[in-house]
Amino acid sequence: MSQTNQPITYDDNNIFAKMLNGDIPYHKVYEDDKTLAFMDIMPQAKGHVLVIPKQKAVDLADLEAEYAAAVLMTCKKVMQAQRQVFEREGIIQMQLNGAQAGQTVFHYHVHLIPSSIHELGRHAATQVESDRLADIAKQLAAVIVD
Ligand code: AMP
Repeated sequence: MSQTNQPITYDDNNIFAKMLNGDIPYHKVYEDDKTLAFMDIMPQAKGHVLVIPKQKAVDLADLEAEYAAAVLMTCKKVMQAQRQVFEREGIIQMQLNGAQAGQTVFHYHVHLIPSSIHELGRHAATQVESDRLADIAKQLAAVIVD
């Protein structure tokens, strides 16, 4: 994993840009005109969701105000759905800025993880089968209030 301290420029071929372009599959939880929410393929707990803006931002420094607001509102919707589906109050909201912080995908994203900080699994470590992610995405999408 890169620990570089150098600023990173936006790469149009990053994995989340490819999702937004419809070039690679993902398990959608929610979408609106400014944001997309989908299942993390290597969850740190069951029900780990990522929320991204439809803006080319590497990290928080690049994020425009209207997209920042939209991401936060989508986070609220997803978190409420996670609380309902997993019957737990505790949801971690996490976001990494820069490789030095451990960021691995350089398109801004917020992690929403139904877990405790004391029980969090390893970051981007173990891939979960597509069928299981599809099932959870369906459950979450079904209870999201737009
Ligand atoms: P970060 O290290 O904060 O940039 O987080 C990137 C996240 O993206 C990690 O939690 C990865 O598990 C997740 N991830 C990487 N590739 C994919 C993918 N194809 N679909 C969904 N999540 C992914």
